[in-house]
Formats: sequence, C-alpha cells, structure tokens
Amino acid sequence: MIDEILEVPDHLSVARADFSRALAWIDGGFVPLAEARIPVRDLGLMYADMTYDVVHTWRGGFFRLDDHLDRFETSCAGLRLDPGFTRAELTTLLATLVDRSGLADALVYFACTRGTAPPGSRDPRLASNRFFAYAQPLVLRGQPEEMRRGLHATISTTIRRIPETSVNPVWKNTHWGDFTRALLLAKDDGFDTVILLDHGGGVAEGPGFNVVAVTREGLLAADSGVLEGISCRTMMEIAGELGIPGRYGRLAPDVLRAADEAFITSTSCGLFPVTRVDGVPIGPGRPGPVATRLLNTYYRRKNDGWNITPVARLLASAAGRGT
Ligand code: PLP
Repeated sequence: MIDEILEVPDHLSVARADFSRALAWIDGGFVPLAEARIPVRDLGLMYADMTYDVVHTWRGGFFRLDDHLDRFETSCAGLRLDPGFTRAELTTLLATLVDRSGLADALVYFACTRGTAPPGSRDPRLASNRFFAYAQPLVLRGQPEEMRRGLHATISTTIRRIPETSVNPVWKNTHWGDFTRALLLAKDDGFDTVILLDHGGGVAEGPGFNVVAVTREGLLAADSGVLEGISCRTMMEIAGELGIPGRYGRLAPDVLRAADEAFITSTSCGLFPVTRVDGVPIGPGRPGPVATRLLNTYYRRKNDGWNITPVARLLASAAGRGT
C-alpha cells in the first residue's frame, strides 16, 4: 500500500473564516451571534444545568443531522429538559438559521438550558426551559499546520473524568470543570491538549473529543464513560469500509502509548492525529497512514454528499408541509 498524503482542509482556518456572518436564534428571534444574550439567572449558566449538541454543515448541507438530533433528544429526555419544539420544528429552525447566516461550512451549536425558575423556587421542574442555537463558520479545532504536525497530548495523572454515576457523559453536558483544570495544567506544561482517564484507569475522553488508538488489531475507542461521539462512529464506519477493523472496548493508557497511531475525533475536525503522548512519539511521531486514509476518505465522502442533507432541501420540504 502506498501511503497517502494528508489532505489538510486548509480553507477551514480562522484567518479565512468570516465571523461577521455568525448568527444566533434565542428567545424567539434571530440576532447576530455577538448580540445573543442569556439572563444571568438562567440555571444553565448558574449550575451547568443544560444540554447541547454541535452539528456541522458541509457545502450547504448538514452532516448526520438526524444522529445529532437523536443524541440531543436523548440528552434532553435524560436531563428532563424540554426545548419546546418538535423534531420537525427543530430541523426547520436549524436549517433556517444556517440559511440566513449564508454560511456553507458552519458549526451549528444548539442548546436547551433549565432556564429560569419562579422567584424563590428551587424546584427544577418549575423552571421554564430555554432553547437557543447559533451558526458560526466551521474552523478546524486545531489549525491546519497543527494537523500536519499532529497534536502533542498528555494524559492527566491527577485529574480523572467525572464518574458516570455523577454525570452521565452520554447526555452531552457542560460539566467541564475536570477538562478545564486538566487543560490548564497541560498548557502550562507545553502540551496542546489533555486526555483524561476514568476512575478505573482506562482512557476516557478529552475536552470536546473522543480518543482512538490504532493498533495491529485495528481501531480501539472507549466504550463507556464517554460521550458517544458521532465523529468516532463515522471513523469506525469508514474504517470498516476500508477493511480496517474497529471496535469499542477498554482502552488502557499503555495501549494508547504503544499504539501505531492515535487520533482524536470531534465534529470540529472529523479526526485530528495525535503524534506524541507525554513527549513520546506515537509510532513514527507524525500523522500515520490509517489516520490519513480515514481523514482523506471522510472529506471525499462528504464532498460526494455522503450523510449530507442539503439545507435547501430541508427548507423546501418544510415549506411543503407548511411548518
Ligand atoms: N467527548 C466530548 C466530551 C465532547 O464534548 C465531544 C464533542 O463536543 C466529543 C466527545 C466528540 O463528539 P462528536 O464527535 O459527536 O462531536
């Protein structure tokens, strides 16, 4: 097999993004993102009592929108939050938001907070939940030149991921105290990012991403204690089609360190190679052939419309339904 060259999506850089197009929908209206406000008494802000999801559009179409909406609905049901919209209404709202922003490649964040409770009440059931969403330019979670080099990560030895008995990671949440503390320490030590272990000592996840090791047996990603990442599932599917086995299971930190390759997965990048862990190169210490093939295939497939639902089609069918 001849190694492919990593086709880095250079156009997804901060320098090329037009943030003036970023648009929000909150409290019943569209406003420029910079003007979107949330009341200081919203319990989402006060106690991280909220859920959210992040989907992206690619060349004018949502990527795996239904998977993101499924996950959002699961998160809302688990946390007993009600965005106040049907699935069809949510879909139309998100499509309208993207359409109005004029962004073809957008990161679309949508959230439901507990909202504000009646004065004097501490009963979360009585709060009026708040839904909001915004679309902003899709930029890589790292910049293109970092993708060519790969991330230099550290595994935190002092801070563990919040146990799933306390905060269910499957319901996408903003309990990021562990991530942020660990990320600050990692940055102080000169690393790009940090990977957290669970309380059993297995690799969990990092701030906004899942972790995948590539070993002789194929891809391996954590099967519990983590958000069920849609990008991770996407890479598992692409790997399967390319004849590369993949599975979810316990990922021991030593297996990650000794892997041939490693990468993180997230909506904001698809995948991003990890080339060093705690200063030690993973494999040859540069983005490897498997990560390269997966990423290149991911972009080719998206360009061909794989798992893409055009925004215009959603709006046309909403108009047809009269919603
Ligand atoms: N894990 C955490 C904690 C996250 O916040 C995210 C994304 O924001 C992920 C994993 C990756 O999920 P996805 O690939 O669906 O974006």
